[in-house]
Amino acid sequence: MGKNGSGFDIAKLRVEPGSKVKLAKIDPASTPSWKADEGLADKEQAAAKLAELTQRLTALQSLLWAQSSERVLVVLQAMDAGGKDGTIRRVFEGVNPSGVRVASFKKPTEPELAHDYLWRIHQQVPANGELVIFNRSHYEDVLVVRVMDLVPEDRWRRRYRHIVEFERMLADEGITIVKLFLHISKEEQRRRLQERLTEPEKNWKFDEADLVPRARWNDYQKAFEEAIAETSTDRAPWYIVPANRKWYRNLAVSEILVKTLEGLKMSYPPAPPNIADLVIPE
Ligand code: ATP
Ligand code: MG
Repeated sequence: MGKNGSGFDIAKLRVEPGSKVKLAKIDPASTPSWKADEGLADKEQAAAKLAELTQRLTALQSLLWAQSSERVLVVLQAMDAGGKDGTIRRVFEGVNPSGVRVASFKKPTEPELAHDYLWRIHQQVPANGELVIFNRSHYEDVLVVRVMDLVPEDRWRRRYRHIVEFERMLADEGITIVKLFLHISKEEQRRRLQERLTEPEKNWKFDEADLVPRARWNDYQKAFEEAIAETSTDRAPWYIVPANRKWYRNLAVSEILVKTLEGLKMSYPPAPPNIADLVIPE
């Protein structure tokens, strides 16, 4: 096994609590902690490594489901075309759909708006044995809400504290939380949105409304920087994943999830007593 056998260091992507975040300093096309073996192409070796990680993730998720006492929450945030859907599709390939659920948070409905912003979020947190992926999340309430001025600043600013406390409560109650920001460049977003226009099988994905956040790119980057810096904690850390290269993005996300689940030190529940002598009657 080469350098990447087990050498991928997810700490390189983690945002240490209390540290500043400067997205312009993180190259979205970079591949931190990755180096292919001599003579092997990145993509080729990454594909082999990803296949191995997919197997490990599948095994860990079976264990999570069988043990039915741990709960795992994965928060996914990105700019439009940042690769949230592709990541979910590829990284969770092969896991048992009974134990895995995706919760997507769109523009709030009337009843959702009539409640506090965490109301709809709390309903979707994982139960025992579940792994839930948030495709967008409560972070929209300090991102789009901030950039588009949907509530006054003093109101969204207080939310950093609520979010930290809310996530601490979830962690205290047994939920393992991992937060992932897929970091793409403005040019990569242009390329991907343009593809949605020119490739017929991608036309359905094109949404003219995505051009509004694109026009406010810098404001969004600033909102992400502050939200991530204010809410990365030991128990609910943020990881910034350079995501221009899909092979690296999938690999890094898989590494983060596998290492996090391995950290739970799960084991299969004990066998019922006396089964050694039992034979199923004909
Ligand atoms: P895709 O386009 O890949 O299907 P998506 O996550 O972009 O997935 P959309 O329905 O296109 O889904 O967009 C969801 C929209 O809802 C985003 O523009 C997002 O900013 C917005 N949204 C999510 N949560 C909130 C919120 N709390 N307040 C206001 N807008 C929100
Ligand atoms: Mg969209």
